Amino acid sequence: MPVGTQATIKGLRNEAVEELGAEILLANTYHLYLRPGHELVRKLGGLHKFMSWNRAILTDSGGFQVFSLSELRKVTEEGVRFRSHIDGSEHLLTPEKAAEIQLALGSDIAMVLDECIETPAPRDKADSALRRTTQWARRARKYFLEQQDRTGDLKQWQFGIVQGATFADLRCESTHQLLEIDFPGYAIGGLAVGEPHEVTCEMTAEVTGLLPQDRLRYLMGVGKPEQIAEYVALGIDMMDCVLPTRAARHACLYTSRGRVLIKNARYAEDQNPIDPQCQCSVCRRYTRAYLRHLFAAGELTAAILATHHNVHFYLDIMRQIREAIEFGNLAKFSSEMRAKYAAGMA
Ligand SMILES: [Zn+2]
Repeated sequence: MPVGTQATIKGLRNEAVEELGAEILLANTYHLYLRPGHELVRKLGGLHKFMSWNRAILTDSGGFQVFSLSELRKVTEEGVRFRSHIDGSEHLLTPEKAAEIQLALGSDIAMVLDECIETPAPRDKADSALRRTTQWARRARKYFLEQQDRTGDLKQWQFGIVQGATFADLRCESTHQLLEIDFPGYAIGGLAVGEPHEVTCEMTAEVTGLLPQDRLRYLMGVGKPEQIAEYVALGIDMMDCVLPTRAARHACLYTSRGRVLIKNARYAEDQNPIDPQCQCSVCRRYTRAYLRHLFAAGELTAAILATHHNVHFYLDIMRQIREAIEFGNLAKFSSEMRAKYAAGMA
């Protein structure tokens, strides 16, 4: 899922995102709640209509940004109190409120509010955060089901979020507790936040090993191009990451042969496309030399073209993964990707 924090994929018009083949994107509840406000979005017909995007939208709960961006946050059983990073105004985000905001936005998939902690976390802190996360998940589910009863069929799926930091037994406990609540899908949160990659994989495997086959599994906030197939092999269906879009704005391009740092002088006269194997409309038309010049000149177009290519590259990885699964080649595809990225730049 490309990340559209402020109801836009930075640098791409939605028609381009459609052309790239994205079937779902992620939007951030924290940002849209503070600006323009969920009530305004509801009034204007919901997020799909507001941003003119007819395909699926997943919204996060806002929790992660409250814990990472806002000031003066205070966590209690009730919820988390925080000050807006925009104007300093005070807000209280509860599990019910997070669910209500996402219903107002009208996303297709909504996430429950969870407690995010700093990593590496000591065991007692991870343990109490996981307990609170489960209680909040119960309240969020109850609120959602009440709304569903009240309004008829809600066109939204609500996902639970497994926590437990880097402790395998806590991850298992969290998973069991959420399975008891019963969600149509399960996310794994609090990973890929600084721990070694092997630990991310180990924790992911602990959780996916317990999840039922017929429920979606979503690993939040990953990953690097060479890691995506690995996560799929561990049983993950969905991922989101700012990497392709953020890196593009910083002149870092992902290619089938590794990373290209396009500002590098070696590309000044390079007439090749960003990635000779890429079929995206940027690679079919523009050269590395031109893109390097646009970045050097600080032109907006540089970020637009780079983002277009990087998002295409990521979505293409997923297309190749689906194909590899069909032909029974996923392990081979995954190790080839890792080898290319270990080798460094194209
Ligand atoms: Zn391309």
